[in-house]
Amino acid sequence: MTSLLWFQGGACSGNTMSFLNAEEPSACDLVTDFGIDVLWHPSLGMELGQQAQKIFWDCARGERPLDIFVFEGTVITGPNNTGRYDMFADRPMMDWVTDLANQAAIVVAIGDCACWGGIPATAPNPSGSVGLQYLKKNKGGFLGEGWTSKAGLPVINIPGCPAHPDWVTQILVAVASGRTADIALDELQRPQTFFKSFTQTGCTRVQFFEYKQSTMEFGQGTRTGCLFYEFGCRGPVTHSPCNRILWNRQSSKTRSGMPCTGCTEPEFPFFDLAPGTVFKTQKISGSIPKEVPIGTDHVTYMAHAAAARIAAPEWSKEDMFVV
Ligand code: SF4
Ligand code: SF4
Repeated sequence: MTSLLWFQGGACSGNTMSFLNAEEPSACDLVTDFGIDVLWHPSLGMELGQQAQKIFWDCARGERPLDIFVFEGTVITGPNNTGRYDMFADRPMMDWVTDLANQAAIVVAIGDCACWGGIPATAPNPSGSVGLQYLKKNKGGFLGEGWTSKAGLPVINIPGCPAHPDWVTQILVAVASGRTADIALDELQRPQTFFKSFTQTGCTRVQFFEYKQSTMEFGQGTRTGCLFYEFGCRGPVTHSPCNRILWNRQSSKTRSGMPCTGCTEPEFPFFDLAPGTVFKTQKISGSIPKEVPIGTDHVTYMAHAAAARIAAPEWSKEDMFVV
Protein backbone atom coordinates (compact mmCIF):
# COMPACT_ATOMS: atom_id res chain seq x y z
CA MET A 1 0.00 0.00 0.00
CA THR A 2 1.08 3.56 -0.69
CA SER A 3 0.18 5.91 2.14
CA LEU A 4 -1.22 9.33 1.26
CA LEU A 5 -2.09 12.28 3.47
CA TRP A 6 -3.94 15.28 2.00
CA PHE A 7 -4.05 18.65 3.77
CA GLN A 8 -5.65 21.96 2.84
CA GLY A 9 -4.20 25.37 3.60
CA GLY A 10 -5.62 28.64 2.28
CA ALA A 11 -8.04 26.92 -0.03
CA CYS A 12 -11.59 27.08 -1.38
CA SER A 13 -11.71 23.25 -1.62
CA GLY A 14 -12.12 23.56 -5.37
CA ASN A 15 -9.33 21.09 -6.05
CA THR A 16 -10.87 18.55 -3.70
CA MET A 17 -14.21 18.99 -5.49
CA SER A 18 -12.43 18.48 -8.79
CA PHE A 19 -10.49 15.43 -7.50
CA LEU A 20 -13.70 13.76 -6.30
CA ASN A 21 -15.03 13.99 -9.88
CA ALA A 22 -12.08 12.11 -11.37
CA GLU A 23 -12.97 9.42 -13.87
CA GLU A 24 -9.79 7.99 -15.34
CA PRO A 25 -9.00 6.76 -12.78
CA SER A 26 -11.54 7.75 -10.14
CA ALA A 27 -10.77 8.54 -6.51
CA CYS A 28 -12.23 5.13 -5.58
CA ASP A 29 -9.99 3.39 -8.13
CA LEU A 30 -6.97 4.85 -6.34
CA VAL A 31 -7.89 2.83 -3.27
CA THR A 32 -9.35 -0.34 -4.78
CA ASP A 33 -7.18 -0.78 -7.88
CA PHE A 34 -3.94 1.05 -7.16
CA GLY A 35 -3.39 0.33 -3.49
CA ILE A 36 -3.36 3.90 -2.20
CA ASP A 37 -4.09 4.07 1.50
CA VAL A 38 -5.64 7.50 2.15
CA LEU A 39 -4.59 8.04 5.76
CA TRP A 40 -6.67 11.20 5.98
CA HIS A 41 -8.28 13.77 3.70
CA PRO A 42 -10.32 16.83 4.79
CA SER A 43 -13.46 15.59 3.01
CA LEU A 44 -12.90 11.82 3.16
CA GLY A 45 -11.15 11.24 6.48
CA MET A 46 -13.29 9.37 9.01
CA GLU A 47 -11.15 10.25 12.03
CA LEU A 48 -11.83 13.33 14.10
CA GLY A 49 -10.14 15.10 17.00
CA GLN A 50 -7.50 13.11 18.85
CA GLN A 51 -7.77 10.16 16.46
CA ALA A 52 -7.00 12.39 13.50
CA GLN A 53 -4.22 14.16 15.37
CA LYS A 54 -2.58 10.85 16.16
CA ILE A 55 -2.33 10.10 12.42
CA PHE A 56 -0.86 13.55 11.78
CA TRP A 57 1.67 13.36 14.59
CA ASP A 58 2.70 9.78 13.76
CA CYS A 59 3.50 10.91 10.22
CA ALA A 60 5.06 14.21 11.30
CA ARG A 61 7.42 12.43 13.72
CA GLY A 62 8.32 9.77 11.17
CA GLU A 63 6.72 7.02 13.23
CA ARG A 64 4.36 6.11 10.40
CA PRO A 65 5.71 6.02 6.83
CA LEU A 66 4.26 8.67 4.56
CA ASP A 67 4.67 8.02 0.86
CA ILE A 68 2.73 10.94 -0.63
CA PHE A 69 1.92 14.26 1.01
CA VAL A 70 -0.64 16.19 -1.03
CA PHE A 71 -1.17 19.84 -0.28
CA GLU A 72 -4.03 21.98 -1.59
CA GLY A 73 -4.26 25.73 -1.02
CA THR A 74 -1.66 28.27 -0.03
CA VAL A 75 0.71 28.06 2.87
CA ILE A 76 -0.45 30.98 5.03
CA THR A 77 2.45 32.60 6.83
CA GLY A 78 0.73 35.68 8.28
CA PRO A 79 0.58 37.50 10.52
CA ASN A 80 4.28 38.34 10.83
CA ASN A 81 5.41 34.90 9.72
CA THR A 82 3.68 33.15 12.62
CA GLY A 83 1.16 31.28 10.43
CA ARG A 84 -1.51 31.87 13.05
CA TYR A 85 -4.06 33.04 10.49
CA ASP A 86 -4.43 29.34 9.61
CA MET A 87 -4.49 27.15 12.73
CA PHE A 88 -5.12 23.43 12.26
CA ALA A 89 -5.07 20.68 14.90
CA ASP A 90 -3.68 23.03 17.56
CA ARG A 91 -0.81 24.50 15.58
CA PRO A 92 -0.19 26.69 12.55
CA MET A 93 -0.80 24.76 9.35
CA MET A 94 2.58 25.94 8.09
CA ASP A 95 4.26 23.94 10.87
CA TRP A 96 2.39 20.81 9.77
CA VAL A 97 3.52 21.48 6.22
CA THR A 98 7.17 21.72 7.29
CA ASP A 99 7.07 18.47 9.25
CA LEU A 100 5.00 16.42 6.82
CA ALA A 101 6.80 17.60 3.67
CA ASN A 102 10.11 16.62 5.26
CA GLN A 103 8.85 13.15 6.18
CA ALA A 104 7.12 12.35 2.88
CA ALA A 105 8.76 10.43 0.06
CA ILE A 106 6.94 12.59 -2.51
CA VAL A 107 5.18 15.94 -2.13
CA VAL A 108 2.49 16.97 -4.60
CA ALA A 109 1.02 20.48 -4.81
CA ILE A 110 -2.51 20.48 -6.21
CA GLY A 111 -3.95 23.63 -7.77
CA ASP A 112 -2.56 27.10 -8.32
CA CYS A 113 -2.63 28.14 -4.68
CA ALA A 114 -0.43 25.27 -3.54
CA CYS A 115 1.86 25.60 -6.57
CA TRP A 116 2.37 29.37 -6.75
CA GLY A 117 0.12 31.15 -4.27
CA GLY A 118 -2.66 31.78 -6.79
CA ILE A 119 -5.36 34.35 -6.13
CA PRO A 120 -4.70 34.62 -2.35
CA ALA A 121 -1.09 35.68 -3.04
CA THR A 122 -2.20 38.55 -5.26
CA ALA A 123 -0.90 41.88 -3.93
CA PRO A 124 -1.24 43.07 -1.22
CA ASN A 125 -1.45 39.43 -0.04
CA PRO A 126 -2.70 40.17 3.50
CA SER A 127 -2.54 36.51 4.60
CA GLY A 128 1.11 36.13 3.63
CA SER A 129 0.17 33.32 1.25
CA VAL A 130 2.86 31.44 -0.67
CA GLY A 131 3.01 28.28 -2.73
CA LEU A 132 4.94 25.23 -1.55
CA GLN A 133 7.98 25.91 -3.71
CA TYR A 134 7.08 29.06 -5.68
CA LEU A 135 5.66 32.49 -5.07
CA LYS A 136 4.14 33.33 -8.41
CA LYS A 137 6.94 32.53 -10.89
CA ASN A 138 9.76 32.99 -8.41
CA LYS A 139 11.20 29.75 -7.12
CA GLY A 140 11.53 29.41 -3.37
CA GLY A 141 8.05 29.63 -1.91
CA PHE A 142 7.53 28.15 1.53
CA LEU A 143 9.88 25.17 1.40
CA GLY A 144 12.75 26.93 -0.35
CA GLU A 145 14.38 26.77 -3.74
CA GLY A 146 16.63 23.79 -3.17
CA TRP A 147 14.23 21.73 -1.09
CA THR A 148 13.70 18.10 -2.07
CA SER A 149 11.60 15.33 -0.57
CA LYS A 150 12.96 12.11 0.89
CA ALA A 151 12.84 10.60 -2.60
CA GLY A 152 15.11 13.43 -3.76
CA LEU A 153 12.45 15.22 -5.80
CA PRO A 154 11.21 18.79 -5.70
CA VAL A 155 7.50 19.41 -5.19
CA ILE A 156 5.50 18.04 -8.13
CA ASN A 157 3.27 20.93 -9.22
CA ILE A 158 -0.15 20.15 -10.67
CA PRO A 159 -1.56 23.65 -11.20
CA GLY A 160 -4.97 24.82 -12.35
CA CYS A 161 -7.85 26.65 -10.79
CA PRO A 162 -8.86 23.96 -10.19
CA ALA A 163 -6.58 21.25 -11.53
CA HIS A 164 -8.37 18.80 -13.81
CA PRO A 165 -9.23 15.71 -11.72
CA ASP A 166 -7.55 13.24 -14.07
CA TRP A 167 -4.27 15.17 -13.97
CA VAL A 168 -4.29 14.58 -10.23
CA THR A 169 -5.29 10.93 -10.14
CA GLN A 170 -3.01 9.94 -13.01
CA ILE A 171 0.03 11.42 -11.29
CA LEU A 172 -0.93 9.78 -7.99
CA VAL A 173 -1.20 6.43 -9.79
CA ALA A 174 2.21 6.92 -11.40
CA VAL A 175 3.74 7.55 -7.98
CA ALA A 176 1.86 4.68 -6.32
CA SER A 177 2.88 2.23 -9.03
CA GLY A 178 6.56 3.05 -8.72
CA ARG A 179 6.81 5.10 -11.92
CA THR A 180 7.78 8.39 -10.32
CA ALA A 181 11.02 8.41 -12.29
CA ASP A 182 8.96 8.50 -15.49
CA ILE A 183 7.31 11.81 -14.53
CA ALA A 184 9.35 14.33 -16.51
CA LEU A 185 8.91 17.80 -15.03
CA ASP A 186 9.18 21.11 -16.86
CA GLU A 187 11.07 24.16 -15.57
CA LEU A 188 8.12 24.98 -13.28
CA GLN A 189 8.03 21.42 -11.89
CA ARG A 190 4.85 20.54 -13.77
CA PRO A 191 4.51 17.06 -15.34
CA GLN A 192 5.35 17.51 -19.00
CA THR A 193 2.85 14.86 -20.01
CA PHE A 194 0.14 17.41 -19.24
CA PHE A 195 1.87 20.77 -19.47
CA LYS A 196 4.09 20.65 -22.54
CA SER A 197 1.25 21.35 -24.97
CA PHE A 198 -0.91 24.47 -24.99
CA THR A 199 -4.56 25.01 -24.11
CA GLN A 200 -4.88 25.75 -27.81
CA THR A 201 -3.74 22.23 -28.74
CA GLY A 202 -6.98 20.56 -29.78
CA CYS A 203 -9.18 23.65 -29.53
CA THR A 204 -12.01 23.49 -32.05
CA ARG A 205 -11.42 27.17 -32.88
CA VAL A 206 -7.89 26.74 -34.19
CA GLN A 207 -9.04 27.10 -37.81
CA PHE A 208 -10.38 30.55 -36.95
CA PHE A 209 -7.19 31.39 -35.10
CA GLU A 210 -5.14 30.45 -38.16
CA TYR A 211 -7.16 32.75 -40.43
CA LYS A 212 -7.22 35.52 -37.78
CA GLN A 213 -10.99 35.54 -37.56
CA SER A 214 -12.37 36.79 -34.28
CA THR A 215 -15.58 35.79 -32.63
CA MET A 216 -17.80 38.86 -32.45
CA GLU A 217 -19.68 38.12 -29.32
CA PHE A 218 -18.68 36.76 -25.93
CA GLY A 219 -19.98 33.25 -25.17
CA GLN A 220 -20.76 32.18 -28.73
CA GLY A 221 -20.43 28.50 -27.97
CA THR A 222 -18.50 26.65 -30.66
CA ARG A 223 -20.05 28.53 -33.56
CA THR A 224 -17.69 31.14 -34.94
CA GLY A 225 -14.34 32.77 -34.53
CA CYS A 226 -11.45 32.62 -32.13
CA LEU A 227 -11.34 34.28 -28.71
CA PHE A 228 -7.73 35.46 -28.96
CA TYR A 229 -8.19 38.72 -30.82
CA GLU A 230 -10.79 40.51 -28.68
CA PHE A 231 -11.71 38.36 -25.71
CA GLY A 232 -8.33 37.82 -24.10
CA CYS A 233 -8.02 34.06 -24.67
CA ARG A 234 -4.65 32.89 -23.38
CA GLY A 235 -4.82 29.54 -25.18
CA PRO A 236 -1.66 30.11 -27.26
CA VAL A 237 0.40 31.19 -24.23
CA THR A 238 -0.85 28.72 -21.61
CA HIS A 239 0.48 25.23 -21.02
CA SER A 240 -2.40 22.89 -20.31
CA PRO A 241 -4.09 19.84 -21.88
CA CYS A 242 -7.60 21.32 -21.52
CA ASN A 243 -8.48 20.55 -25.14
CA ARG A 244 -6.82 17.11 -25.08
CA ILE A 245 -8.18 15.84 -21.78
CA LEU A 246 -11.64 17.35 -21.83
CA TRP A 247 -13.50 18.52 -18.76
CA ASN A 248 -16.26 16.10 -17.75
CA ARG A 249 -15.10 14.17 -20.83
CA GLN A 250 -17.26 16.63 -22.77
CA SER A 251 -15.80 20.02 -23.47
CA SER A 252 -13.45 22.81 -22.49
CA LYS A 253 -13.70 26.48 -21.77
CA THR A 254 -12.64 27.55 -25.23
CA ARG A 255 -14.87 25.02 -26.98
CA SER A 256 -17.84 26.43 -25.12
CA GLY A 257 -17.00 30.06 -25.86
CA MET A 258 -15.12 31.00 -22.72
CA PRO A 259 -11.61 32.45 -23.09
CA CYS A 260 -8.77 30.58 -21.38
CA THR A 261 -7.61 32.75 -18.49
CA GLY A 262 -4.27 30.96 -18.19
CA CYS A 263 -4.95 29.34 -14.86
CA THR A 264 -2.11 26.81 -15.08
CA GLU A 265 0.57 29.50 -15.27
CA PRO A 266 2.20 31.06 -12.18
CA GLU A 267 1.18 34.61 -13.12
CA PHE A 268 -2.51 33.73 -12.82
CA PRO A 269 -4.58 35.82 -12.14
CA PHE A 270 -2.96 37.93 -14.83
CA PHE A 271 -2.68 41.68 -14.30
CA ASP A 272 -3.96 41.11 -10.76
CA LEU A 273 -7.50 41.26 -12.16
CA ALA A 274 -7.19 45.02 -12.79
CA PRO A 275 -10.32 46.51 -14.39
CA GLY A 276 -10.25 46.16 -18.18
CA THR A 277 -7.86 43.21 -18.19
CA VAL A 278 -10.24 40.28 -17.78
CA PHE A 279 -11.69 38.75 -20.95
CA LYS A 280 -10.15 41.62 -22.91
CA THR A 281 -7.17 41.27 -25.23
CA GLN A 282 -4.46 43.71 -24.19
CA LYS A 283 -3.23 45.56 -27.25
CA ILE A 284 -0.53 47.90 -28.49
CA SER A 285 -1.78 50.83 -30.60
CA GLY A 286 -5.30 49.47 -30.36
CA SER A 287 -4.80 46.53 -32.69
CA ILE A 288 -1.62 44.48 -32.03
CA PRO A 289 -1.88 41.89 -29.24
CA LYS A 290 0.62 42.69 -26.48
CA GLU A 291 1.30 38.99 -26.04
CA VAL A 292 1.80 36.88 -29.14
CA PRO A 293 1.84 33.06 -29.24
CA ILE A 294 4.84 31.46 -27.54
CA GLY A 295 7.70 30.92 -29.95
CA THR A 296 6.99 33.88 -32.20
CA ASP A 297 7.66 37.62 -32.01
CA HIS A 298 5.64 40.68 -32.90
CA VAL A 299 7.18 41.25 -36.34
CA THR A 300 6.71 37.63 -37.43
CA TYR A 301 3.23 37.58 -35.93
CA MET A 302 2.17 40.73 -37.80
CA ALA A 303 3.45 39.42 -41.13
CA HIS A 304 1.71 36.10 -40.60
CA ALA A 305 -1.52 37.79 -39.48
CA ALA A 306 -1.65 40.08 -42.53
CA ALA A 307 -1.13 37.16 -44.92
CA ALA A 308 -3.64 34.97 -43.07
CA ARG A 309 -6.34 37.64 -43.23
CA ILE A 310 -5.86 38.01 -46.97
CA ALA A 311 -5.93 34.24 -47.42
CA ALA A 312 -8.97 33.71 -45.20
CA PRO A 313 -11.68 31.81 -47.08
CA GLU A 314 -15.31 32.86 -46.76
CA TRP A 315 -16.23 29.85 -44.64
CA SER A 316 -13.84 30.99 -41.92
CA LYS A 317 -16.07 34.05 -41.44
CA GLU A 318 -19.31 32.10 -41.22
CA ASP A 319 -21.22 30.18 -38.61
CA MET A 320 -19.88 26.64 -38.85
CA PHE A 321 -22.65 24.89 -36.97
CA VAL A 322 -25.97 24.83 -38.80
CA VAL A 323 -28.77 22.68 -37.42
S1 SF4 B 1 -10.22 30.18 -28.68
FE1 SF4 B 1 -8.26 30.38 -27.55
S2 SF4 B 1 -7.42 28.30 -27.47
FE2 SF4 B 1 -9.02 28.30 -29.05
S3 SF4 B 1 -7.95 28.74 -30.98
FE3 SF4 B 1 -8.63 30.72 -30.17
S4 SF4 B 1 -6.87 31.47 -28.95
FE4 SF4 B 1 -6.56 29.28 -29.30
S1 SF4 C 1 -8.87 26.51 -20.37
FE1 SF4 C 1 -7.26 27.80 -19.48
S2 SF4 C 1 -8.25 28.82 -17.73
FE2 SF4 C 1 -9.55 27.08 -18.31
S3 SF4 C 1 -8.85 25.37 -17.02
FE3 SF4 C 1 -7.69 25.24 -18.94
S4 SF4 C 1 -5.79 26.39 -18.53
FE4 SF4 C 1 -7.24 26.96 -16.94
